[in-house]
Amino acid sequence: PPDVEQLGRSTWTFLHTMAAYYPEVPSYAQQRSMKTFLSAFSQFYPCNICAEHLREEMKSKPPKVESRWALGNWLCEMHNIVNETLGKDIFDCSKIDERWRDGPKD
Ligand code: FAD
Repeated sequence: PPDVEQLGRSTWTFLHTMAAYYPEVPSYAQQRSMKTFLSAFSQFYPCNICAEHLREEMKSKPPKVESRWALGNWLCEMHNIVNETLGKDIFDCSKIDERWRDGPKD
């Protein structure tokens, strides 16, 4: 079975980076595609317990796909829910661009 920690780090990197480069003003087609992607992702993520938790969270907090800002913050919130469950530090969501797009300010 996959290494759940290594898989998680790589996957969060992919997801947060994708959100950081999502269009500021996505078309309706792009919004639909992102919803479809996240729904499929939550079915096929190769850590069953993780995917189950995610699907459960997504029922009460469906993905926000109306803008780059909305998607990035939704994903940050989802990741923080996992962080909390695992006893990890909560990430400051105002720092997502610095972490995943622009790099630290000098
Ligand atoms: P990670 O949590 O992998 O984070 C990587 C980096 O992302 C951090 O170093 C930090 O710079 C940045 N970061 C942290 N929090 C945020 C945030 N909120 N927003 C933006 N950036 C942030 N593991 C389990 O044991 N049980 C689970 O149920 C589980 N569910 C998961 C669900 C999903 C969808 C994913 C992708 C992973 C899941 N994992 C789960 C794995 C877990 O979240 C971690 O990836 C893994 O434990 C390794 O943790 P880490 O400390 O290296 O940092």
